[in-house]
Amino acid sequence: MLTTKQYKFWFLTGSQDLYGDACLKVVAEHSHKIVDALNASGALGYELVWKPTLIDSVSIRETLAAANADPDVAGCIVWMHTFSPAKMWIRGFNEYRKPLLHLHTQFNRDIPFDTIDMDFMNENQSAHGDREFAHMLTRMKTPRKIVSGHWSDPNVQKRIADWMNVAIGALESRYLRIVRVGDNMRDVAVTEGDKVEAEQKFGWEVDAYCITDVAEYVNDVALGDINALTDEYYDTYDLITDGRDADEFRRHVAEQAKIEIGFRKFCEENRYQAVVTNFQSLAGLNQLPGLAMQRMMADGYGFGAEGDWKTAGVVRLFKLMTAGKTGKKGTSFMEDYTYHLEPGNKAILQSHMLEVCPSIAEAKPAIRVCPLSMGNREDPARLVFTAKEGDGVACSLVDLGTRFRMIINEVAVKKQVTPMPKLPVATALWAPKPDFETGTEGWLMCGGAHHTAFTYDLTSSDVVDLCDHFGIESVVIGEGTTMGSLKRDLMIGEVYYK
Ligand code: MN
Repeated sequence: MLTTKQYKFWFLTGSQDLYGDACLKVVAEHSHKIVDALNASGALGYELVWKPTLIDSVSIRETLAAANADPDVAGCIVWMHTFSPAKMWIRGFNEYRKPLLHLHTQFNRDIPFDTIDMDFMNENQSAHGDREFAHMLTRMKTPRKIVSGHWSDPNVQKRIADWMNVAIGALESRYLRIVRVGDNMRDVAVTEGDKVEAEQKFGWEVDAYCITDVAEYVNDVALGDINALTDEYYDTYDLITDGRDADEFRRHVAEQAKIEIGFRKFCEENRYQAVVTNFQSLAGLNQLPGLAMQRMMADGYGFGAEGDWKTAGVVRLFKLMTAGKTGKKGTSFMEDYTYHLEPGNKAILQSHMLEVCPSIAEAKPAIRVCPLSMGNREDPARLVFTAKEGDGVACSLVDLGTRFRMIINEVAVKKQVTPMPKLPVATALWAPKPDFETGTEGWLMCGGAHHTAFTYDLTSSDVVDLCDHFGIESVVIGEGTTMGSLKRDLMIGEVYYK
């Protein structure tokens, strides 16, 4: 698995020295208990680290600068236990650059109506202090997520956990390196984009290589390694040979093992976490990378076909944002192909020439070797399967010339009841939300691509939070969307993100 490091998050508590040491001692005890309880809850995918209470601008600036500098810290969660005059936070947040969550909570769940006095109220005034703090962040236009509610509430804990996953994607995005073999598929518009702007906005380094640079790695792979990986394929997947000769079939499969080992070595040596191929640029390779890319995607690599570096980047971010989740259902590069327009059961068949990630497979995938309808290479081996049933999001990052827009469609993947024996590719059949007409008409109105990054394991709200961190436009088409509301969203975006 192309893993990332075990990040931590810092928990910062704000107060001031007006209340005396006795009060500050209680504040520290309370924040300690909250951090311990959140860590013990099992709800968070990453460790929360308690930090001493911040009571002046010097300690605030030094702590936030230390969070910026620590490579193991993915972000901070901040909470005002009492009142923390927010001018103290200005210098710190002028420098702070990592993801930020404002947890609007308080230590006690209920008001102790029988015993409450002025001391209690002064000591427990998050409702007051968090407003002062939030005012300053709003004035400074500091991007942040706000979660409100008692820290013991499972829903609050889940929202913190979801934000942590978004934060991992937002932070790791800064270090993402994408290798692109060849250029864009000739004449295609939507997969193009401004790579300089992408590096400023997302941090992505998108480097082009000649396919022959990678093919050298592929053709250098030792026969013993190819055989070992081919054996692993045969142990891991079913085989559908379509009547082909067993040796000839295996020789085609072994070609993908060679491609997989070569591409992985190239990516490891050159520190790339996402791969972009182009079927028009295959010099030195005997097959279009199919099974090889499917397995790298399953291992956490981003992937985009036909030069689509933007979708490759988003697939990688989604892999990162779901890495810490338990019970996840999968994330893949995907493409809208053809429609089922039966009244009451309308759906879009999703697939690609070859490269769909087996993490979304409903059952054990099978290897098939079949001709590719385009290009001039030999029949490539690929994994075929149908996708799991369930809700997910399909996302397309497009470049509108002056800015990026993320289009997010909530979709429901259907159970594939009718087999498609003659279709030798992995598929998902989904219905866009809120309904077929609004989903497809809205997508076209937004300028969304045919390629998407699809995942079951994030919500539209998670992807919006990610876009908010980057400061780019995001548009959701999902439950509750109407063409009227969508058009208004697009008009507002046109003005705001100009
Ligand atoms: Mn495509």
